[in-house]
Order: sequence, then C-alpha cells, then structure tokens
Amino acid sequence: MRVPIIAGNWKMFKTVEEAIALVSELSKKVQDVEGVEIVVCPPFTALDAVNEVLNDSQIVTGAQNMFWAKEGAYTGEVSPVMIKNVGCKYVILGHSERREYFGETDETINKKIKSAFEHALIPILCVGEKLEQREAGLTEQVVRTQTEGALAGIPAGQVSQLVIAYEPVWAIGTGKTASDEDAQKVVAYIRKVIAELYEADTAQQVRILYGGSVKPENIAGLMKQPDIDGALVGGASLDAESFARIVRFK
Ligand code: 13P
Repeated sequence: MRVPIIAGNWKMFKTVEEAIALVSELSKKVQDVEGVEIVVCPPFTALDAVNEVLNDSQIVTGAQNMFWAKEGAYTGEVSPVMIKNVGCKYVILGHSERREYFGETDETINKKIKSAFEHALIPILCVGEKLEQREAGLTEQVVRTQTEGALAGIPAGQVSQLVIAYEPVWAIGTGKTASDEDAQKVVAYIRKVIAELYEADTAQQVRILYGGSVKPENIAGLMKQPDIDGALVGGASLDAESFARIVRFK
C-alpha cells in the first residue's frame, strides 16, 4: 500500500516570520489527520526555523532544490548535507521552473537524484509536458525521456522510495487542471515506464503525485484515481486553511 502524500511547494514565497506563522497555523489544523504524509517545502532561508516549529508535529519538510556536491567552492549553492542537517526528509528536484529559468537538464537532475539518495534524502522528481508538446501529442514521449534521464544508473532499491510529481507545465499557476482522467492516464503511463526500466514491484512502490492548480475543490476527484498517490501543491499551499482542506481530501 502506498501512503498518500500531500506536499506544498512554497516556491519563492514567505519570509522566516511568515513561514513560522503558516506552519504554526497549519500544524493545528491537521493534527488529527491520519493516513496521509504531509510535507511542506519552504524556501531555503526558512527551512531551519520551520523544522524547529514542526519538531513535534507529523508534518515533515523538503527543500525545493539542491546542488549535487557535498561541499565546495560553488557560490550560491546549497548542498544535500546542509538540507539534511536542518532536518529535511525530501527534496524537490527538476521542477519545471528550474528547467525553464535555471537551465536544469535531465543530466544535471540525474546527478542531483543520485546525490540526494546518497545523503538519505528522498527526491520528489518533477516531470511534465509543455502546452505545445501536449498539443503535438508528445506528452508520453516527454515524460518518458524525463523519467529515463533522471533515473539513469539509479538502482531499484532507491527508485522504490522515490516520489514523482507529474506536473503538466500548462497547468502550473494557470488555474487549469488536467482532468482527473487525463492526469490518471499520464501517471499510469509513468508507472508503466518505471515497470519497464525496473520491475512491476518497484513501479508499484513509487508514489506518483499530480501537480498543477490543485485546490480544495479538485483534490477529491484526483485522489480517487487509482495511480495518483497525492499532490504537489503550489499556490494553495501558501494558505493554511486551503492546504489543510487539501490534506483532508477524503
Ligand atoms: P500551482 O499549484 O500554483 O499551480 O503550482 C504547482 C506547482 O508547480 C507545484 O510544484
């Protein structure tokens, strides 16, 4: 049985004070929730403070990115050791905004995935097609290439712990969600790709989330799909009430 995950990607929002206020409110609102893993991914600057606040809470944290080296002369970068050190369990890797604005490629994402596992962090690997790729019928090809590229050389034992977020780029921050059926179709296809690369067992263990304009109003339909194991939520995770309603999707 795959435990569902609802993860909030805060992107470049919230000062330390705002982050503390948000998680303090959120942890009260979700303290009785069971059977769902709740993850928040604040910006680097707030990770330490947020982890302090969440110490006794069931909510866990993730970073939104990292560099692959353990340490070194890489001005401006943050290492897996540093993320682990402040208490993170997860790290989002290969988000479409990183691919689009910061030149991340399947190759650099692959290095980051390897490094995350080496440092006992669980990657949340993001894949997804752009609008023109969807319109050209290339969705499956794009998610296959991104998945294969990111996982090159990663052993099955690690992949079974992996979390993948299918985030169609055209649905991010646009208010347009993929229909439940469309999201299910692509998520099932990603699972099939994993089964081909590894084994059916491994594919059954990987948790695959949907991301892109997830709101309290559309989460229930998505969660009813057999292959969708949760959501990676952007905008709606910045508000404690909205995110708590998403966490209570049932
Ligand atoms: P929105 O929920 O704001 O569309 O963002 C989705 C996303 O990119 C999560 O990583």
